[in-house]
Amino acid sequence: MKQQLNINKSRPKKSLGQNFIIDDEFSRKLSKSINSDKDTNIIEIGPGKGALTGYLLEKEFKSIVLIEKDRELYQNLYKSFKNDKRIEVKNIDALHVKYEKLKLEGKVIIVGNLPFNVSTQLLFKWLDTKQWPPFYNRMVLMFQKEVADRIKSGKNSKSYGKISVACQARCEINELMTAPPEIFYPVPKVYGTVLDFQPSLKYKNIDFVKLKKILSLGFSKRRKKIKTSLKDYKKELMDLKIDENLRAEDLSVKDFCKLSMCS
Ligand code: SAM
Repeated sequence: MKQQLNINKSRPKKSLGQNFIIDDEFSRKLSKSINSDKDTNIIEIGPGKGALTGYLLEKEFKSIVLIEKDRELYQNLYKSFKNDKRIEVKNIDALHVKYEKLKLEGKVIIVGNLPFNVSTQLLFKWLDTKQWPPFYNRMVLMFQKEVADRIKSGKNSKSYGKISVACQARCEINELMTAPPEIFYPVPKVYGTVLDFQPSLKYKNIDFVKLKKILSLGFSKRRKKIKTSLKDYKKELMDLKIDENLRAEDLSVKDFCKLSMCS
């Protein structure tokens, strides 16, 4: 049985990207798709009124850290969980958390129906960790469908860009669920998509900062040939035998990773 939380009826705040899940069946399925055991620490970003949290609590886990920026929602969550030592509730902006310093022993899974206004910033924060493999073993995250499509997109497609390459260089990505607008309150204009990210060691030696720089240069002028947009990497392109008459969207994730590994 899902745990009932002591959550009030505060009005949703647009500035905090608050679209709460109101469909219990969706939350139950989403929670079920997350594999956890007694050794798993779950970090939930933006638990809100606890729609998903209640189902996460039914799973096996070692600890759950709830990170909620909204003071009022935090207070309600805190009141609900203050007697459970396995649950820590933090009133902080998820963008400011030093995740490595949480010192969670065992497996770590980041979970969340992310606030749409900071979802890509959060994702880049988790991809851009000093250590790779990172502090987490998995991420199960809901994005607006259009953002999820860009994350999964392959080369030669309009939606292929910086976020696609950065994510696919770092993780294996699988789509888990689609969320129609009516499962949320307030009802958003768009669908949501839940993606599963598993850190990959395929390109573990890439310089991620350099990769991001190359991607910004390449995709900021995506209609230009790379001999123009990546003119500072002429020698590297030649060494790697990448045709400089191509456009950024023609280069594979592997091409970009190789470019970022050239000194
Ligand atoms: N998990 C809940 C659900 O699915 O019903 C709420 C999801 S709602 C899309 C996003 C949640 O993230 C809200 O509770 C909001 O207050 C919180 N939030 C927004 N910005 C945040 C931030 N920067 N750091 C942490 N939480 C944030």
